[in-house]
Amino acid sequence: MITLDRVVITLQAVQDILGLNDWKITPHTATDAQLKKLLKGKVENHIEEIFGCVLIHADFRTAEMYIWDNLDTSKHSQGLEHTVFHECLHIVLHPYDELYMFLFEDESLLVRNVLQWGYTNMEERVINQLSDGFINCLNIIQAKNEPKDQSPK
Ligand SMILES: [Zn+2]
Repeated sequence: MITLDRVVITLQAVQDILGLNDWKITPHTATDAQLKKLLKGKVENHIEEIFGCVLIHADFRTAEMYIWDNLDTSKHSQGLEHTVFHECLHIVLHPYDELYMFLFEDESLLVRNVLQWGYTNMEERVINQLSDGFINCLNIIQAKNEPKDQSPK
């Protein structure tokens, strides 16, 4: 079970790392049903598990972050740190979302399809790759900081 305390601590660290301290990000834990309701059909049908989502109010530099409370029971999840980092990258990349939304107003179906493809395939993929890199970085730092074997040679 993911507790709100863990989300708060993780979010604070990730905000420091990404330089997002001028944002007021309010963390929440949420059930699977709550997450699906929040995303209201924005998720493609083949996606069964939603690890988190973030609602961004860029004009106010505020956001609401929702993290799945059963994240740690999922075989597919890469953990709380990965998910919080992922959701924070959506905030970093939010100006691109606004550009997508602006261009989406174009009446051309082709343009809309290209934008939809770009969003789902590029933004999500890039965010996941960066989140993987972040976790690798954490693991490397942790391994370097582990006490060396003290046994005599
Ligand atoms: Zn995402």
